[in-house]
Amino acid sequence: MVNQLRHTLLWPLMNVVTRFAPSPTGMLHIGSVRTALFSWLYARHHRGKFILRIEDTDRERSTEDAVRVILDGMQWLGLDADEGPYYQTQRFDRYRAVLAQMLAAGNAYRCYCSKEQLEAMRTAQLARKEKPRYDGRCRLRTEPRPDVAPVIRYKNPLDGEVLVDDQVHGRVLFQNSELDDLIIARSDGTPTYNFCVVVDDMDMGVTHVIRGDDHLNNTPRQINMLRSLGASLPVYAHLPMILGADGAKLSKRHGAVSVLQYQQEGYLPDALLNYLVRLGWSHGDQELFTREQMIAAFDIKDVNKSASAFNPEKLLWLNQQHIMRAPPSTLAAGLAQSLDPLKIIVAPEDRPLLEGVAQAQRERARTFKEMAQNSEYFFRDFDDYDDKAASKNLTSETLPYLSTLQQGLGSLTDWNAAAVDEVIKLVASASGVGLGKVAQPLRVAVTGGAVSPPIDVTVTLLGRQRTLARLSRARSYAASRPAAPATPAVARRPPAGG
Ligand code: GLU
Repeated sequence: MVNQLRHTLLWPLMNVVTRFAPSPTGMLHIGSVRTALFSWLYARHHRGKFILRIEDTDRERSTEDAVRVILDGMQWLGLDADEGPYYQTQRFDRYRAVLAQMLAAGNAYRCYCSKEQLEAMRTAQLARKEKPRYDGRCRLRTEPRPDVAPVIRYKNPLDGEVLVDDQVHGRVLFQNSELDDLIIARSDGTPTYNFCVVVDDMDMGVTHVIRGDDHLNNTPRQINMLRSLGASLPVYAHLPMILGADGAKLSKRHGAVSVLQYQQEGYLPDALLNYLVRLGWSHGDQELFTREQMIAAFDIKDVNKSASAFNPEKLLWLNQQHIMRAPPSTLAAGLAQSLDPLKIIVAPEDRPLLEGVAQAQRERARTFKEMAQNSEYFFRDFDDYDDKAASKNLTSETLPYLSTLQQGLGSLTDWNAAAVDEVIKLVASASGVGLGKVAQPLRVAVTGGAVSPPIDVTVTLLGRQRTLARLSRARSYAASRPAAPATPAVARRPPAGG
């Protein structure tokens, strides 16, 4: 609906066309997501079009699972495509037609060389200390070999050079003499990767190719083919790699690298995008970006050409920043999702509790997973007290406070933070102790541990019934503890007002 609206309103302005073209051969990792993000941002910044294209021609390595992960990941991240997903495996007729066109125009030729011939060619070239490459011998062949299924090779220009005026790397010059005649269709007729990319970028009107710089060496070949086809050339921007903190290429051993894993770990998509946009791109010294701010500020020309290192701590920090600023509904959804693996399903009528807990915990959690783990006691009774917290706070000394608190809270007619706070203050002053002496035993009694949001908020969220039941339990626990060993008398503060 929103996409449709964008099309209708902005179509006349659209001229930039970018695409994200993943191969579904593994997981959707952080590096690919950054490529997708930069392509998406560039299109959105220019009110252009963003295309999703699944490059699944490698049938042995492509899997349906990997396609699903790409689609789910893009959806979770909110990187919405204006067109696609296109699938290269559904475009074979088109590739065949372009192959025929290239053969007819003399831009491609059938090559009948056998494996053995190619091997001998290579050995001879190496012996002459030459770079191994196909020597183009089938260019001149006029007779087919009926017993051999040929491959099709692109007739790369023999001399001259190709200038890639890259938006990130600057001007990179390639000599045609260094490029041999690339196979564009295998002997079974299936087109190869570089050829499909060329046909697709041409057919889809891609104006800006933004991709990893592992593809920079493919670019001069693709430019030559685009020229042979009379297509206009896109602008290229090759993004540097993302490295692990140890300087090695980012891989599984650097922790979570599949994007859906971040979803499971309780990251906000906007935080992940914010983190990724700063990997190799900057806008003054601004670190925090909303989606809209990224779109407004992003320009591919500001991307740095050196590789950037992945820093999980910074991602955690950013996630917390985004959690602190997220609207209640986003917080509640994030918390609910992370409660799920703990087997806590929040009933629709407990939605206010969910939102309240998420609000109360937002400053204490770097991820929703952390938030969920620290919030279990709001949704179900805990099994055991934290040992240290209980032995310090649920004792014969605090037992009277627990009793008075139970009485005071039990008699409240309005259950709200101000009223709860009032009771705690009264109990403290009546007992002649500081607030903490009362509040901390109460906290341990109702949460099982020593850390929670402000105690009045915590108690209010827990509700009357749970709070009173847990106070009873804490009193029994405190009463059953052996008397604390005699400690030297500590001077107590005089009762308030006394
Ligand atoms: N399919 C390629 C990959 O996943 C990307 C090709 C391109 O962007 O041109 O690395």
